[in-house]
Amino acid sequence: MSSAPGKLIVLSGPGGVGKSTIVAELKKFDHFYFSVSATTRQPRPGEIDGVAYHFVSDAEFSQMVDSKVFLEWAEFAGAKYGTPKQPVLNALQQGKHVLLEIEIEGARQVKRSMPSAVMVFLQPPSMAELEARITNRGTDTPERIAARLALARQEMAAAGEFDHLLTNHQVDEVIQALVSLATS
Ligand code: 5GP
Repeated sequence: MSSAPGKLIVLSGPGGVGKSTIVAELKKFDHFYFSVSATTRQPRPGEIDGVAYHFVSDAEFSQMVDSKVFLEWAEFAGAKYGTPKQPVLNALQQGKHVLLEIEIEGARQVKRSMPSAVMVFLQPPSMAELEARITNRGTDTPERIAARLALARQEMAAAGEFDHLLTNHQVDEVIQALVSLATS
């Protein structure tokens, strides 16, 4: 165990840009502690409660907000998402680097409450590619796809608020960049 506190890396960017693919790849290595968020959205096929997310009801989520469980929380495309604070603080104290994969509004909240967080924005190679990814996902209804497209366009406008801008050309390159941000 290291005595130096770990770094908090916030990976954000528009929905559909490929953040979760990056995280899935990174989980094969031991570089980061990964926070498990709570969400009110329904599990997708294959998602396991407590692993992908803690899947909770609206009432449970509200109770967690009231009890100040969250480091940040936000609404995204009709569901709520939040990062439980204590596991993140524990991991940082133990010298682990922590990676939060969250949307923009939550990222802003983390920056306000933990200014030393390393803020990373993942952008798509092009807007056309992002739109294709969101449209072809196959698990969402047409209404939800339309909402996600509109949101993604808004989210792209936040890129300038972040310390580091990475383009998702190659998963390996993004992973290397994140690891070097944590270890440099
Ligand atoms: P999805 O429903 O596709 O898993 O995630 C939708 C969006 O919510 C993604 O942009 C993802 O990064 C974000 N997200 C996941 N967990 C959290 C969280 O704890 N807080 C915030 N603010 N956003 C989250």
